[in-house]
Parts: sequence; C-alpha cells; structure tokens
Amino acid sequence: MFQALVIEKDDAGYRAGLKSLDDSALPPEGNVTVRVAYSTLNYKDGLALTGTSPVVRKFPLVAGIDLAGTVEASDDARFKPGDAVLLNGFGVGETHSGGLAQKARVKGDWLLPIPPGLTARQAMAIGTAGYTAMLCVMALERHGVAPGSGEVLVTGASGGVGSVALALLSRLGHRVVASTGRMAEAEFLKGLGAAEVMPREGLSAPGKPLAKERWAGVVDSVGSHTLANACAATRYGGAVAACGLAQGMDLPASVAPFILRGVTLYGIDSVMAPMARRTEAWARLARDLDLATLEALTTEVGLAGALEAAPRILAGQVRGRLVVNVNA
Ligand code: NDP
Repeated sequence: MFQALVIEKDDAGYRAGLKSLDDSALPPEGNVTVRVAYSTLNYKDGLALTGTSPVVRKFPLVAGIDLAGTVEASDDARFKPGDAVLLNGFGVGETHSGGLAQKARVKGDWLLPIPPGLTARQAMAIGTAGYTAMLCVMALERHGVAPGSGEVLVTGASGGVGSVALALLSRLGHRVVASTGRMAEAEFLKGLGAAEVMPREGLSAPGKPLAKERWAGVVDSVGSHTLANACAATRYGGAVAACGLAQGMDLPASVAPFILRGVTLYGIDSVMAPMARRTEAWARLARDLDLATLEALTTEVGLAGALEAAPRILAGQVRGRLVVNVNA
C-alpha cells in the first residue's frame, strides 16, 4: 500500500483527499515504476486539488505535476532500478496519475535523470516552477539579454516561478527588480538578490499603451494588466518571457510596444517542452542556482500539508517554493 493525494469527481462532487492505494491503482500505460521521495506544490496543483479550474481531466487521479525519486522497476531500457529520476509535466497530474504519492508509474519518455549535484529534494524544491523560471531565463538569453543589458523585471517575485527567476538572474549578474504584492517580503526578496523591490500596484492596474522605457527583459508569471504594463515599459528591442496567469488569463495590451519599440513577447510552456530543452534547463539549474538560496526560499510539507496549502497558493499566500516530502 502507498499514500497518495487522490482527486475524485462523481455524483458526490469534486474532492481531493489523502488515500491508501495498492499497486492496482498505478496506471497500466506507464512502463517505469518510481518510488517517489519528493514532489512539490505548484500553482497548477493548487488549481487541481481545489477544482478551481479544469486541470484534471480523468477521475480518480493522483494529483501532482512533479516527482523525484528512485526507479523501482522498469520496462524501459534507458532506466534501471535504483536510478534517480525526476519528472515535470507531460500531463502527469492532469490526465495521468501524478507525483503527490509515495509511488507512481509513468512513461520512461517523460523521465530525466536527476542532474549531478542535485538531490531529489533539491530537484523538487525547484520543481516545475523553478524549471519554468529557467526556461524564461534561457528565452531572454537567446534573445540577447545579458548582464549589463539593463534592468530585468520579475513579477510575482515572492511566488515559486518569481523567486527562482530572481535568484537565477541575480546570480547570473543581472540587476533585477522584483515586483510583489507583499512588500513585507522585501527583505526576503533582497536576500534572493533583488536590487530593488517595487509594489505590484504600479503594474497590476490598467496602464497606458506605452510607458517610459525601463526593462531590458521581463519574467512574468502574472499575466493580465501586469504583463501589458511590463511590455509597455520594455526598452527598445527588449524581451518579455510570459509564463503565468496569477493575476488573470487576459492580456489587455496594445500592439504599440511590439511595432514601435520592437519588443518581443516569448510564450513559455513547461508541460510539453521538448526533452533537449528540459535537459538544458536542468543542467543550467544544477550549475547556476545557488543551493543555499534555494533552501532559503523552500518550505517542506508532507502530503497532508500540500492539501492544506492548495487554496493558499491560489491566494498568493505561499512564499517561494513548497517541497513535499511524500514520506513525512
Ligand atoms: P505562486 O502562487 O507561487 O506565485 C504566483 C505569484 O503571483 C504570487 O506569489 C504573487 O506574488 C503573484 N500574484 C498572485 N495573485 C496575484 C494577483 N491577483 N495579481 C498580481 N500578482 C499576483 O505560483 P507559481 O509561481 O507556481 O506559478 C505562477 C504562475 O505561473 C501560475 O499562473 C502558473 O500557472 C504559471 N506557470 C506556468 C507554467 C508554464 O509552463 N507556462 C509552469 C509553471 C507555472 P507576489 O505576492 O510577490 O505579488
């Protein structure tokens, strides 16, 4: 038997709870069984566990878009028992039972070795949020945003994507400005490397099509007016990496920054990102993220704690990253 956070939907309604399952509950379409050590709580897991939006499309389903652990059994020649592996996305925790459990069966095509230098716990402290932050940083770099190019804005800075993006960019030598709705976290954000912390009210209200040019690059996990205002204040030829919708899915913007200042808006998807890009992102995370800083932005909970935190992450009340010790 193993413990799992199971989401059910039937005549009694939509609910998530901690359950004991046996191996017959493992999805038959998987070919690698993983003894999970750690998972995480991402914003999307919050949506899934609370049923706030239709993330889960198959019931019953084990929640959790991330996992890290050790291969227990494998029909995939690339993996053998004892291998340390991690998984982000690919529909796991949405259409295929996921990582908020002590055991999972997944496709070998979805697994990556945990990069040398990282433990399973550190890999999950990073999780999808941190790996997405790295994808955003890589998009800005490919565009040519380099240390010295100018200030880089990180929105939703106290959240999972934001805090890891801030830590990465500042360690890489950028001058990073953190936007947050929680000015009480200003010292925390400076500790992660923010050169300046600004209240998010300046970005989250409706703004003008163009504003004074300020940002060489932007990592935005917030969307809506915040993304529109970030684009409006991006410097000539700069780039914005958009990955999230914590404020809203809308984009009430004009084309002005794009056609008058040559601003580029990059869309960042972690779920179906190709393996080559994932491998690069995880290698970069192992190299460029300071592990003491990662620990400073991480809080550990158990499976029950993850369930309790689900509404809090949607309310923007979780600071940094939540790593889930599934055996706690
Ligand atoms: P978190 O909840 O940890 O962080 C989101 C942050 O956004 C909050 O901490 C808060 O930061 C800010 N925020 C929350 N509500 C509002 C609001 N109403 N207006 C403005 N800012 C707000 O979530 P994650 O970091 O895990 O995820 C962030 C977003 O990125 C989510 O929308 C998620 O779905 C998306 N995402 C997308 C991925 C992809 O593949 N494209 C992958 C991973 C995440 P503060 O208090 O500092 O203002």
